[in-house]
Amino acid sequence: MQLLDGKLISSQIKSEIKAEVEKWIADGGKKPHLAAVLVGQDGASETYVASKIRSCEEIGFTSTLLRFGPEISEESLLDAVESLNNDPDVDGFIVQLPLPKHISENTIMEAVNPAKDVDGFHPVNVGKMCKGLPSYISATPFGIIEMLIRAGIETSGKHCVVIGRSQIVGLPMSILMQRNEYPGNCTVTITHSKTHNLKEICQTADILIAALGRPEFVTADYVKEGAVVIDVGISRVADASKKSGFAIKGDVNFNDVAPKTSYITPVPGGVGLMTICGLLTNTFKAAKKEIYR
Ligand code: NAP
Repeated sequence: MQLLDGKLISSQIKSEIKAEVEKWIADGGKKPHLAAVLVGQDGASETYVASKIRSCEEIGFTSTLLRFGPEISEESLLDAVESLNNDPDVDGFIVQLPLPKHISENTIMEAVNPAKDVDGFHPVNVGKMCKGLPSYISATPFGIIEMLIRAGIETSGKHCVVIGRSQIVGLPMSILMQRNEYPGNCTVTITHSKTHNLKEICQTADILIAALGRPEFVTADYVKEGAVVIDVGISRVADASKKSGFAIKGDVNFNDVAPKTSYITPVPGGVGLMTICGLLTNTFKAAKKEIYR
C-alpha cells in the first residue's frame, strides 16, 4: 500500500505556484486576487474559508473575505456577487457552500461571471468541461486528478467506480475519469443512494472514489485487492477525547481498507488539502486570463 499524501503533494504544488507567481509579478503581471464570500457562521465553512485565505497569503495572492450574516436576502447576496463580477481587481471569487435554506445556491452560482468562477460551478464551466474545452475544473475533482498524475497511477482501461453524484464532486469526477486523455479513459460507473448492489459494484473497481458523506462507510469487503482508493469524505464525528469535541472522518474506514489497496488517500491529510490547490490554480489561470480573455 502506498499513501497518496495530500499534505506533501499540496505543499509541492503550492511551492510551484508561488514560484510561478513571483515570476509572473516580476515580469509585470498583476498579483492574483481571490475573494471569498462567507454567509452565516457554519463551523466547517469557517475552517475551509480560513484555510483558503491562509493559502493565498502563503503563495503571494491578494485575498479578500466578505462576510454576511445568515439573514442576508438572496437579492443582497446577488448584489454582492455583481460587485465582485464588476471589480477589476478581483480575478476570481468563491461563494462558500452551503448557503442558508432561503437562498438558491443555483441562482447564486449562475450569477457568478464564468470568467471569475474559480470554483468551476457555473454551468458554462461545467459544460465546457463536459465538452473537453478549457475551463475551470471544480477544485476537488481537480485535486484528485492532480494526485493521480503525480503518483503516476495508470487509469486507461480501468474500471472506476464513483460513489456519489453531487454536482461538485461525484458528477464532475465521473466525467473526468472517462475523458479521452490521461488521467481518464476509464470505464466509469457512477453510483448513488438508489444504487442496488453497491458493494458488489465497488468490489469490481480498480479505482474507487468515495464521495458520499457517510463516515467510514467503505469497509474492506467493498474493495478489490490492489485497488486505488480515493476518499473524498469529510465528516465531523463526536469524539470526547479531542479538544474540539469531534474527529474528522472520511467515507472510507482507512485501517480496515488500506492493507488491500495499492494506493489510498488518508483523511485528514488527503483530498481536502488538494482541493485548495485546485482553487489556487484556477485563480492564477484567471489572473493570467488563460481561459477567458
Ligand atoms: P452530497 O451533495 O451530499 O452528495 C452525496 C452523494 O452521495 C449523493 O449523490 C448521494 O446519493 C450519495 N449517497 C449518499 N448516501 C449514499 C449511500 N448510502 N450509498 C450510495 N450513495 C450514497 O455530498 P458532496 O458535497 O458530494 O460531499 C461528499 C463528501 O465529500 C462529504 O463528506 C463532504 O464533506 C466531502 N467533501 C470533501 C471535499 C474535499 O475537499 N475533500 C470537497 C467537497 C466535499 P443521492 O444523489 O441519491 O442523494
